[in-house]
Amino acid sequence: TYVIIQDELVHRQDATISFDDRGYYFGDGIYEVIPVYNGRPFALNEHFQRFLESAQKIDMPLAAPVDKIKSLACSLIEQNNLDNGYVYIQMTRGVAERNHLYERDLTSFLTGFTKEMTFPRDKHNGISLYATEDIRWLRCDIKTLNLLGNIMAKRKAADHNCEEALQHRGDVVTEGSSSNIFMVKNKNIYTHPANNFILNGITRQVVISLAGDLKYNVIEEAFSLDDIEQADEVFITSTSAEVTPVSKIQGTIESSYLVGPVAKTLQEAFYRTTNL
Ligand code: PMP
Repeated sequence: TYVIIQDELVHRQDATISFDDRGYYFGDGIYEVIPVYNGRPFALNEHFQRFLESAQKIDMPLAAPVDKIKSLACSLIEQNNLDNGYVYIQMTRGVAERNHLYERDLTSFLTGFTKEMTFPRDKHNGISLYATEDIRWLRCDIKTLNLLGNIMAKRKAADHNCEEALQHRGDVVTEGSSSNIFMVKNKNIYTHPANNFILNGITRQVVISLAGDLKYNVIEEAFSLDDIEQADEVFITSTSAEVTPVSKIQGTIESSYLVGPVAKTLQEAFYRTTNL
């Protein structure tokens, strides 16, 4: 098995990472998870566009030109013979003695690996969400390694036998711990706008575009806990969950849903675009 270290592929057992990496001290870094279907990366350009934007937003230079990183990711898929799963790409601000203040002359440190995975397409009777206050910072649009709020929400959801969290800031539904949340009311599809309160999921963007093709009305507006309680359908999107219907919400609110026609239609449309 190979991994990416900086600008080359190396055997996993030969890969080493510095004790003083700022990713380790501060979570000072960004990442992307790119799905791979039948050996081909999905929405590669969109993922690297977001990677570039995340880097810019935290004033971090790229470890290599974006096209070089893209081709490293593709070589890794090939060298590891990955059929289905994902490629993970991470870039930290680099190595320096621990100091909050970062110098601008550091060399960003790039790593990457592949993971085989079966996309969970057979068990889609709907998952449960655990509704919990969104305690994260105000730049959730950046795909940073700092995921404490997200992982705490995920653990809390699991402790209540739910597969995913539903985070809300006060009354406003933001997103899952690692997914975006959609609801359907009177055939209209609602999801939180892509601003600083959520990560603009690539799956979210693909699903919004597919929904438009299918002549659904997509409304990117914040909606409340009350709204989602009254919704006809709820589903989540993410690279690994693709389009997954929600059958139940617990926690701050309690409600249940049937797997509805809109989620099913979008799920099938999404599956078709992946060519799996
Ligand atoms: N929101 C958060 C907080 C995430 O971590 C993710 C990624 N797993 C998503 C949404 C979904 O993004 P994508 O569709 O690009 O995987």
